Amino acid sequence: MLDAGAPPLVQVEDLKMHFPIYTGIFRKHTGDVKAVDGVSFDITAGQTLGLVGESGCGKSTVGRAMLRLYEPTAGRVIIDGDDVAKLAPEALRRKRPTMQMVFQDPQASLNPRMTLADIVSEPLDEHTDWTRDRKLERVYELMDQVGLNRRFVNRFPHEFSGGQRQRIGIARALALKPRFIVCDEPIAALDVSIQAQVVNLLEDLQEKLGLTYLFISHDLSMVRHLAQRVAVMYLGRIAELSPSRDLYARPLHPYAEALLSAVNEPDPELAARRNRIILKGDVPSPANPPKGCNFCTRCPKVMDICRNVKPSLAEVEPGRLVACHLYTPAAGSTGGSEANERNQQGETR
Ligand code: SF4
Repeated sequence: MLDAGAPPLVQVEDLKMHFPIYTGIFRKHTGDVKAVDGVSFDITAGQTLGLVGESGCGKSTVGRAMLRLYEPTAGRVIIDGDDVAKLAPEALRRKRPTMQMVFQDPQASLNPRMTLADIVSEPLDEHTDWTRDRKLERVYELMDQVGLNRRFVNRFPHEFSGGQRQRIGIARALALKPRFIVCDEPIAALDVSIQAQVVNLLEDLQEKLGLTYLFISHDLSMVRHLAQRVAVMYLGRIAELSPSRDLYARPLHPYAEALLSAVNEPDPELAARRNRIILKGDVPSPANPPKGCNFCTRCPKVMDICRNVKPSLAEVEPGRLVACHLYTPAAGSTGGSEANERNQQGETR
């Protein structure tokens, strides 16, 4: 699961984020929306984990719960040795500089009444007692790092393009020299022509500053080149977590298979063998997920066991974790033998 020798900077264990549902005039607690329901992964220092899935699968909630922008319902989030999920308010405040977030919509995440200098130095105001000049010097340094002309220092967000605004958001995230950054769909709101520039910038910064990323995206083709490993989420749980090249060449989980069948394949040989899988039905409500496998209402390979028993995420090949009964020996001869056959044939699509 981990790269040999390199310790994980981030370890998430059984993270749950349930939002209570209250109904009636007495606001009775009648249930929970299980936005994140037992998610575990780790990220090696200096690497990127891609977290992908359709809209509403809980991937952004994972990022927010990890940084305590939401209070997690349960689980552990170890970042650089501290369990962030359990830190007391003052300890959490001291920890904040080391873990930051780049948001999806730079337009919405930047205060329109603040200048670039004010926005980027805001975290410095909060966490340092630096003089005004020293903070301005740091702002200039950050502008250089993210490719913004120093002349723009006193401009307001509306005077920048979408790509430039996202660079401001990245500069602000870097202000306190974090080690870990959650990038929550950082290119989704940008023009296609600008997306690659922002991704390249994030890659350059990672290399120069040794950053560790959780890169959340619904765009599987972008994650492919950015992340060493990719976790595919469905309805609040991880369906598959694999090295990027293995996942894209041969997805193991039926949901990952369906999701990837819709991605443009640059390799013509793989593209020719690929069949588009159209999933039927809707994603169930996270307030009332299926009793067994979360994907059982739409899975083309569903078996009896899937409707009653939740599969756990288990290593089925070196470095590849899958939550599916097709890969558990106890699931019965049909599923087990199909998985074995696929593995032996090294099936590719
Ligand atoms: Fe499909 Fe069953 Fe695997 Fe779930 S456990 S993905 S329903 S085969």
